[in-house]
Amino acid sequence: MRSLSTEILPSTCPLDCPDTCSLEVTVTHGKVEKIEGTHRNPLTDGFICSKVRRFPRHLYGDERLLQPARRRGEKGRGDFEKLTWDGALDLLAERLGEVRARHGGEAILPLSYGGSNGYLTQDTTDARLFRRLGASRLARTVCAAATGRAVSGLYGKMPGVALEDYVHSRLIVVWGANPSATGIHLVPIIRQAQRGGARLVVVDPRRTPLAKKADLHLAPRPGTDLPVALALIRWLFDSGGADREFLTAHATGARELEQRAEPWTLERAAETSGIEAADIETLARLYADSEPAVIRCGWGQERNRNGGSATAAILALPAVAGKFGVRGGGFTLSSSGAWKLDSAALAGEEEPATRLVNMNKVGELLLSGEPAVRLLFVYNANPLATLPEQEKVRAGLEREDLFTVVFDQVMTDTARYADLVLPATTFLEHHELRRGYGTMALQEGAPVIEPVGEARPNYAIFGDLCRRLGLDRPGEPGSPTELTRALLAQSERGDEMRAELDAPGITYPDTGRTPVQFVDHFPPTADGKIHLLPPELDREAPRGLYAYQEDPGTDATPLALISPATNRTVSSTFGQLHRKQVPVEMHPADAGARGLQTGDAVRVWSRSGEVRCQVRLSHDLRRGVAMLPKGIWSHNTLNGATANALAPDTLTDLAGGACFNDARVEVEKL
Ligand code: SF4
Repeated sequence: MRSLSTEILPSTCPLDCPDTCSLEVTVTHGKVEKIEGTHRNPLTDGFICSKVRRFPRHLYGDERLLQPARRRGEKGRGDFEKLTWDGALDLLAERLGEVRARHGGEAILPLSYGGSNGYLTQDTTDARLFRRLGASRLARTVCAAATGRAVSGLYGKMPGVALEDYVHSRLIVVWGANPSATGIHLVPIIRQAQRGGARLVVVDPRRTPLAKKADLHLAPRPGTDLPVALALIRWLFDSGGADREFLTAHATGARELEQRAEPWTLERAAETSGIEAADIETLARLYADSEPAVIRCGWGQERNRNGGSATAAILALPAVAGKFGVRGGGFTLSSSGAWKLDSAALAGEEEPATRLVNMNKVGELLLSGEPAVRLLFVYNANPLATLPEQEKVRAGLEREDLFTVVFDQVMTDTARYADLVLPATTFLEHHELRRGYGTMALQEGAPVIEPVGEARPNYAIFGDLCRRLGLDRPGEPGSPTELTRALLAQSERGDEMRAELDAPGITYPDTGRTPVQFVDHFPPTADGKIHLLPPELDREAPRGLYAYQEDPGTDATPLALISPATNRTVSSTFGQLHRKQVPVEMHPADAGARGLQTGDAVRVWSRSGEVRCQVRLSHDLRRGVAMLPKGIWSHNTLNGATANALAPDTLTDLAGGACFNDARVEVEKL
């Protein structure tokens, strides 16, 4: 692989982003010099974000983990001594075996999220290891749990409108998403559609860059998307904008949905959400009158107590208004449902019926779970920076009787609390197979450089641990080639897909690259229909589906804190590269009422914890809302706490998702 000359090699970005850019990497003398986009993936069309353009800083920066090491100082100080891989894996295998023998498999908790991992580095040999150990299982609920449950309940795993097809839309509604920060390739498509006469509506508590270019911006109070969507549904039914013929042919539960929307007049929704009733009506009329109309539903609306119902109500809109059956019409959430490949099936082991841990409750579990977690295995994740109730997570990681192993690419906030750190490869150093969740494409990536330092890939390390513990079986797929072959063999089109991955280097699911909803595919539900009031979701939601739960704010903590993504990090990835202090943002009126000015040092506190940082005034936020972005690390604030310290570990109405935007805070001058 090492070369004395310069090579330009293909790759694919697997980061937690809808787009999955096709890349070309310039490698000189075995080092990555430059990363650029290519046109192989038509959606990403040759340009990439600045985050990945700067990836060499991640690869070769000071925080990169270069060899295995074990703790020699206090937990949290990040003081480690070097080990060999053999020494580290012997130690780890011994601890895994010991904990299982003395406390049972459930005392082991694997903690991974893996939004930035493809089919090969998540849920393959790692699943094999933890299933055979009888470890606790993790419900990966920190993101997309409620939205996933809502879309599956209503439509099954029906893929969304291809982002490329938005150029055909006459109305684009971007709800709870900020493509300027995440999924940037949608932005030029929307701009092109606007130049062709399409209208743009953005629903977001913040005036995002797209909101500034929109025909209409609705800024609901966080947690009130549900009443807004229900008011739109009610208006459509009342005004003749509902497509009853389509509903009769293709949906169940329309009458029940209409009844549940009945209490939500425009005026009541306006009062609850803080949006003008006239603006909600304008959106309703635009939506009823525009053809094709598409809703780009994001994840911002899910991160609160009403998140599942809100998403279900938003996704019900194209059914009620009959917006399907035309190119550029319908909805997009995640397109991952287009793919039926299942890496966990390669584990060769059924999931055991062991304890299922909601990852939003890990802090609580580490402090008082029964049986107690004795070995925490963190990989593809940085829980201290990403989970709610950060101070509980931190206190849990400080437990002296907890053995924590962190397998990561860089020294994260979590890794500083580890007993054992293991260096992981990045996507430029290992094999990967990645499908998008915005683009429908599946692409492959091969290593373009040798591993930096002694970093090793996930599939190798978990396979090695299986062998050391005697948990492997002859003939099981373990290498990337074997895993890829076994995975593609799950599809009837496996050979064809293999050939397409070889050339042109990209393949698409059975439904194709740009399928049209209700033309090329229909809901893969048992009866092929949309279920507007799925009984299982109605039973699961604490007060029934579409029931609004009031704002959790109090007189002491009246401000709603939101923590959206920025264009600096991908979730918390790359946080080590941004050392500047990050301010909390507030509307000038809220700041003025508290005697605050930009640059003041403040204490932001909630019932869960406090953050000390600077404040910045912003007219882009609505009154009553403060903003501290997600993805920041301890070095970005004055006291080492982030927005996660302010977030409760309460759960969404569906699927136990995280309620980051239910953080209610007060801000005081320090
Ligand atoms: S993070 Fe997204 S936009 Fe950036 S290179 Fe990766 S896929 Fe492309």
